Amino acid sequence: MSEHDTRDCIFCKIVKREVPTPLEYEDDHVVAFKDINPQAPVHFLVIPKKHIPKIGDLTEEDRGLLDQMTSAAKHLAQKLGIDETGYRLVINSGDNGGQTVYHLHVHVLGGRFMRWPPG
Ligand code: 5GP
Ligand code: ZN
Repeated sequence: MSEHDTRDCIFCKIVKREVPTPLEYEDDHVVAFKDINPQAPVHFLVIPKKHIPKIGDLTEEDRGLLDQMTSAAKHLAQKLGIDETGYRLVINSGDNGGQTVYHLHVHVLGGRFMRWPPG
């Protein structure tokens, strides 16, 4: 499967409601839902509705999208009550970055202390 192929993209299926997943947040451009394999007590994913495989594939046409994603993450952190204790936003990009799903996403991780450096 090409990473540019939207047909078999699991996150596109979530956006199209073909795979039922409760949405914690939705607006015109992004949705957010729980990670299926949480790495922290709070672990959500914020994704664009548009299929963009990874950071490097963003174009001029997508200007503002990362801002919309981080704004959604900020809103989510407030809603989930982790904004005061703190949280971590992560975008893995490419194989060495640890990306496994090639539909751009921001991880929102919280509810515990996040060590540094990451593994
Ligand atoms: P990546 O490794 O690409 O940065 O993150 C992909 C994330 O998507 C992983 O944390 C993984 O647990 C999550 N994930 C993969 N498939 C599904 C799914 O079908 N539903 C949900 N909710 N999360 C998924
Ligand atoms: Zn996709």
